[in-house]
Amino acid sequence: MKTLRLILGDQLNLSHSWLDQVDDDHIYIMAEMRQETDYVKHHIQKVVGFFRSMRNFSNALQDKGHHVKYFKIGDHNNPQELSKLIKEIISKHNIEKFEYQLPDEYRLDKQLKEICEAISVPSEAFDTEHFYTSRDELKNHFKGKKQLLMESFYRMMRKKHNILMVNDQPEGGKWNFDQSNRKKWDGSPSIPKELSFDTDVTELLEEIKNAEVNTFGNIDAQNFPWPTSYKECSALLDFFCSKLLTYFGDYQDALHTQEKYLFHSRLSFAMNTKMISPKEVIDTVVDYYYEHRDDIHISQVEGFVRQILGWREYMRGIYWKEMPGYAKLNKLENHNPLPDFFWTGKTKMNCLHNAIAQSLDNAYAHHIQRLMIIGNYALLTQVNPDEVDAWYLGVYIDAIEWVEITNTRGMSQFADGGLVATKPYVSSANYINKMGNYCKECSYSHTVKSGEKSCPFNSLYWNFLEEKKSHFKGNQRMSMMLSLLEKKSQQELSELKKRAEKIIQNPNDF
Ligand code: SF4
Repeated sequence: MKTLRLILGDQLNLSHSWLDQVDDDHIYIMAEMRQETDYVKHHIQKVVGFFRSMRNFSNALQDKGHHVKYFKIGDHNNPQELSKLIKEIISKHNIEKFEYQLPDEYRLDKQLKEICEAISVPSEAFDTEHFYTSRDELKNHFKGKKQLLMESFYRMMRKKHNILMVNDQPEGGKWNFDQSNRKKWDGSPSIPKELSFDTDVTELLEEIKNAEVNTFGNIDAQNFPWPTSYKECSALLDFFCSKLLTYFGDYQDALHTQEKYLFHSRLSFAMNTKMISPKEVIDTVVDYYYEHRDDIHISQVEGFVRQILGWREYMRGIYWKEMPGYAKLNKLENHNPLPDFFWTGKTKMNCLHNAIAQSLDNAYAHHIQRLMIIGNYALLTQVNPDEVDAWYLGVYIDAIEWVEITNTRGMSQFADGGLVATKPYVSSANYINKMGNYCKECSYSHTVKSGEKSCPFNSLYWNFLEEKKSHFKGNQRMSMMLSLLEKKSQQELSELKKRAEKIIQNPNDF
């Protein structure tokens, strides 16, 4: 039966069972489409990264003998829209059946279901064979429960997949080494230079420009750093194991002006495009640990496994449990616009300047920069989560809605009212100073609470607690902060609020 098989830009799984057999009955289609470049404004490195990875994937399929129809962004016959594309190919090639892999975005899931209803041939959806969990596994795990605790899900996953387990007990005697994952990096141990693939993407960049795709951010066209093939993803994984794993856990929350990647793996783009599977990543890291356990402490490895087996699968499960309503949640009723400096990095606040400029330069920032610098500021200044979401979804090379929205709207902006985070992730300058060196070179003083020299995070923090306190009544994890708020004098509170108001009204002046 002549069958059309669709492969989306984030479904680049070379090990998918679809590809086991090569025959003339299956035609694969892949397309760089305006519908995908335009639903949000993306960083240029993100568009280049996706298109180059898609092209490499298509070439790998064709080298194996598969029939692939590939539409480049500038091709005159590219319909630029999924339903037109599928309908045209079905009619042109006398297709008898349409098959697709379940997409990881609600938007595409809905669109594909509509397409299947509209076409004249039968259709079938297949799993992507990428994640450890199915779409509904988290929903079933928490059935009847009020709280969706990540820790409970994570332990279930460790046991179920027998990862870092000794019989039925966790390796190292503890499930979670989070407490050991919070060191500040102060110049040692030395950090190996990142593995960059330095690909020349000049031609592709020209094609994207000629197609007038609207992007933002910076790119070095002769030295594109990200992996865009399975081979490169695999090299990045090996580099992580041999060069970075020994200190990954210790410094995973550290912040530093000169070190943008620290000991982070930079594998998120490789995994979110499905070029490499979470199982391969975890198996490789855990095997490496067992072979080198005299040199690597369990806390380094557990911290990494928790991010992928725990958080990554948990967020995906939350996404499918809560969508589509999740995308509209704004429980804290935040409505301020996103400041202009999010698009330029031009602000006197050194932590934000560094984290945003780095995001614009590299399409990357690590999770604490995203959560405790940029997200913290957006939440404290009560920015509309729709605008925060659009920025995060566009700027980061690894951002696909299922992982972006749960981390941003949920974890970072508390817009879901505490579904994924048990408290809002907000802090004053104290935490930022504790975890990095941003404050040393800042125009503001992290120790000063009010007045012109005072760090904006200090007044914003108390102002936020005061304005939103009704939302946190009964939240045990907020009770200490709320009781400290109660103890502030009217005069101190009014000075803090006055300064916070000025910052919120004129964010670009600070
Ligand atoms: Fe950021 Fe405040 Fe520290 Fe400056 S003093 S780097 S604004 S936390």
